[in-house]
Amino acid sequence: MQFRDLKRQYNILKEPINKAVTEVMSSGAFIMGNKVEELEQSLAEYVGVKHCVSCANGTDSLYLALRALNIGEDDIVFVPDFTFFATAEAVSRVGAQPVFVDVDPNTFNISPEKLEEEISLWEETGDGCQDLKAIITVDLFGQPADYIKIQEIAKRHGLVVIEDAAQGFGSRIGEQKACSFGTIGCTSFFPAKPLGCYGDGGALFTNDDSLANTCRSLRQHGKGASKYSNEKIGLNSRLDAIQAAILQVKLSVFDQEIVAVNHIAELYSKLLDDSLITIPLVQEGFHSSWAQYTIILPDEINREDLQTKLQEKEIPTQIYYPTPLHLLPVYHKYATWYKCPNSLSLSQHVLSLPIHPYMTEEEIYFVAETINNIIRTNG
Ligand SMILES: *Cc1c(COP(=O)(O)O)cnc(C)c1O
Repeated sequence: MQFRDLKRQYNILKEPINKAVTEVMSSGAFIMGNKVEELEQSLAEYVGVKHCVSCANGTDSLYLALRALNIGEDDIVFVPDFTFFATAEAVSRVGAQPVFVDVDPNTFNISPEKLEEEISLWEETGDGCQDLKAIITVDLFGQPADYIKIQEIAKRHGLVVIEDAAQGFGSRIGEQKACSFGTIGCTSFFPAKPLGCYGDGGALFTNDDSLANTCRSLRQHGKGASKYSNEKIGLNSRLDAIQAAILQVKLSVFDQEIVAVNHIAELYSKLLDDSLITIPLVQEGFHSSWAQYTIILPDEINREDLQTKLQEKEIPTQIYYPTPLHLLPVYHKYATWYKCPNSLSLSQHVLSLPIHPYMTEEEIYFVAETINNIIRTNG
C-alpha cells in the first residue's frame, strides 16, 4: 500500500494527461504562455476570486504574497506553531519576524483565542519599533482555519490575513472555497497536495487588481510594463506549461476526487476505535480536502512501535509534524519565548494514515482493523 498512490490516479487519467503533455511538447512553448493563462483563469473561477497568479511552488507563493503586501524588516507576522516549515520560512526570508501561535488541539489549526492573546501581548509589550502586520493562517491537513473568528480579530487589530492553503485547496466553509479567505490566498501543486502536478508548482489568489499585478511583476524579475523594464527586485518563479496542462486535466476531476476522499475519511472515522485514539474533527459547516487523515494517540500507545507494526503489514504512516516550529534549530533564539503546549503535544502524538481519492474500501478496512487490533492488544 502507498501513503498517497499517485500512480493510480495517473493510470485513470493517462490518456488525457499524455495528450495534454504531448501537445505542449509539440507547441514548443514551455514556460508560461497560453496554457498557463488558461489554467489561471480556470483556477480563479474554481476558487471564486478575480485573479489567480501562478508561480513555481507553494513556498514562493507565500514569499510573493508577503512581498506584494510590502512586509519586510521590522514587521511581525503571526503564524501557527504547528505547520510545515515553509509557512514561517517565507516570513523569515522577507526579513520579517514570525511569531508562533499555539493551535487548537482538535482542529490542528491556529487557535483564534491564542492568536488574540499573542497579538495583545505584542501590542502591550512590543518594543515599539516593530510593526504587527499580518497573520498567515494554514488550512492544515485540508481543513480551513477558523476564518469567521480570525477575520474579525484581524480587522480589529488592523492585520492582513494571508491564507496558506497549500494543503487546503478544494476545501470550503459553506460554499466559500479555500484560497479566498485571505487578502491573498496561497497554494502549492506539489504532487502529494490535494491538487498536485508532476513537479513543483504554486499559485496566489486575490480579488485585488493591484496586488495581482504586483505578484505578476515579482514572479518575473520585478518586470515593469515590458519584460526589460525591471522596477523591483523580484525572482524567477514561473509555472511550466507542461505542469499547467497536467493541472487542467486534473482540475476536471478534482471535485469528484474531493467527494471520494471525503467518503474515505468518513469510513476511517466510522471504523477506527475512537475509545482508544482521537479521530480528526471537522468543524460544523467546514469541508476538508483531506490532504492528511491524522489521528492523535494517547500516551499509552508508543507511536514508533505502532508505526513499525503497521509497516510490517505494509501500511505506511507519517508524522506531520515531529517538531513544533518554535523548537526548530533555525528558530532556536526564540525557543524560550514560547509556550505552545498544544502544538508540542500534537507533535508527540499525531500519526497520519494513508489517504487519497483512489483508495479502495478494502484498503481502508484493512488499515482501520489493523490499527484497532494493535492498540487493543497492546494497550
Ligand atoms: C507544502 C506546503 C508548503 C510549500 O509548498 P511547496 O510547493 O512544497 O513549496 C507551504 N505550506 C504548507 C502548509 C505546506 O504543506
